[in-house]
Amino acid sequence: MVEASNFIEQMINEDLAEGKVTAIQTRFPPEPNGYLHVGHAKSMFVNFGTAEKYKGKCNLFFDDTNPSKEKTEYVDAIRADIRWMGYQWEKEVYASDFFPVIYEFAIRLIKEGKAFVCDLSADEIRESRGTLTEPGTESPYRTRSVEENLRLFTEMKEGKYADGEKCLRAKIDMSSPNMNLRDPVIYRILHATHHRTGDAWCIYPMYDYAHPICDYLQGVTHSLCTLEFEDHRPLYDWVGYSLGFVPKPRQIEFARLNLTNLVMSKRYLKKLVEDGAVHGWDDPRMPTLAGLRNRGIPVPAIKDFCERVGIAKANSECEISYFEACVREYLNAHAPRAMAVLDPLKLTITNYEGSEEVDFDVNQTDENAGKRKILFSKNLYVEKSDFALNPPPKYFRLKLGGYVRLKNAYIVRCDEAVQDENGNVVEVKCTYVPSSRSGNDTSGIKAKGVIHWVNAETASPVVVKQYDYLLKDAEYAGQDFSERMNYDSEHLLYGKAEPALLDAPDGEAFQLMRTGYYKKCTEDGMLCLSEIVSLKDNFNK
Ligand code: ATP
Ligand code: MG
Repeated sequence: MVEASNFIEQMINEDLAEGKVTAIQTRFPPEPNGYLHVGHAKSMFVNFGTAEKYKGKCNLFFDDTNPSKEKTEYVDAIRADIRWMGYQWEKEVYASDFFPVIYEFAIRLIKEGKAFVCDLSADEIRESRGTLTEPGTESPYRTRSVEENLRLFTEMKEGKYADGEKCLRAKIDMSSPNMNLRDPVIYRILHATHHRTGDAWCIYPMYDYAHPICDYLQGVTHSLCTLEFEDHRPLYDWVGYSLGFVPKPRQIEFARLNLTNLVMSKRYLKKLVEDGAVHGWDDPRMPTLAGLRNRGIPVPAIKDFCERVGIAKANSECEISYFEACVREYLNAHAPRAMAVLDPLKLTITNYEGSEEVDFDVNQTDENAGKRKILFSKNLYVEKSDFALNPPPKYFRLKLGGYVRLKNAYIVRCDEAVQDENGNVVEVKCTYVPSSRSGNDTSGIKAKGVIHWVNAETASPVVVKQYDYLLKDAEYAGQDFSERMNYDSEHLLYGKAEPALLDAPDGEAFQLMRTGYYKKCTEDGMLCLSEIVSLKDNFNK
């Protein structure tokens, strides 16, 4: 018996103990109407993860009952994203594979008096549904004979009617306290070309009716979905009982993952892409899995995040900084270190000639990572922000007359700041302390500040990309985001990087000392470093 670590596993354990099921089958059920986002990573974590834990199986189930919004492009992207996450699906299944069976089941419901063809319009159906406090009114078409229903439903299928002219409704209970049970529509007419079945069908089953059938036909034992479907469970069960499903799949709901500063719904993400607010679905600022991949976010960090957030019964909002903390933690342990200067200021050491190699820890948090050599010379670049002409109190970086350590090299004293005609500092001149070499410092000088540098004689120019959030405020984007969009969320800087970065493979993540985690890439033949996450931890544990 598997030890349960959340309420879903507890329920599964009960079902196993009672002998209701013997092997676990789940499914990950995206609708191919857009790209997957980090919320879907959570759903995958739950569906694939649970199956894995029970040595069961998880299918990839495309919920393609809505032909006007679905595309093959999305199917392909979804597949690629799941593979990238490292999950393997057992079978690839489409709701559309089951259209004929779903149709046959509808015929059965009609024959058993459990469904009827209704001529009311969508508006009329909505108006007659009643409210939470008042029962609905029964459709005048509810009492149609089985024969008439069969004839009309067949005619619907044959394309005799226009969109919306008729629909098939389950005959349940117009006074049920659960609105979903008030004779819900289970088939609608839609003359639209489906991305897989083409024009074979002009009636399509509704999600609430199709989903339990598809689950059953796939042998799903536990249909794990998000909380908004909780109120739909009685209908899910009604379909299962009415059609005599044994064993009947069990729907269990868990909380959606909501993250601050992010727009997560596919509808909104699509709009961002269509409006040109981002470069595409895989823009590094997008919360899509394609975006995260392009950003350089490692898969184990995403999984770790999903695990830590946990599987809860109640919806809540998670701070984006928590996600970033998980990414940072992973990269801190795995990303090699490198030095790059984003906003270069020339530093010349007036009493140094020639060059020498200094040792540099590949990753100081990992003893086994070893060291590499970096070439040091008199001509360096440092960050402009690491020098202050008029330093505030307790400023330990470069200031006139002050000592500072150049990381893994020597202590230097800043002697002179060269200014241009506008008073901008364009170069600092320093003297180094020969006895202060890192690892063998006998100088006795205490330099409180340590700054990073690159060797100007070997440095490579680099384009650095930095990102802000797409939304200006932290609130979760349930509502219209158009006024909250941050249109200035991508920044380009032109810096200098140590040449070792040129040899690294594209896609590799580095910790740039004192700056952040960046992904190396090459764009138009140019070295490019694209921000993954800053070094600064905003997360308040
Ligand atoms: P969106 O509202 O973004 O379009 P969706 O729920 O319509 O999302 P689907 O393609 O239907 O997207 O989702 C596939 C599965 O992923 C569903 O079971 C859904 O419940 C789950 N899912 C979607 N968003 C989240 C989320 N933020 N957290 C957890 N699971 C999610
Ligand atoms: Mg959906």
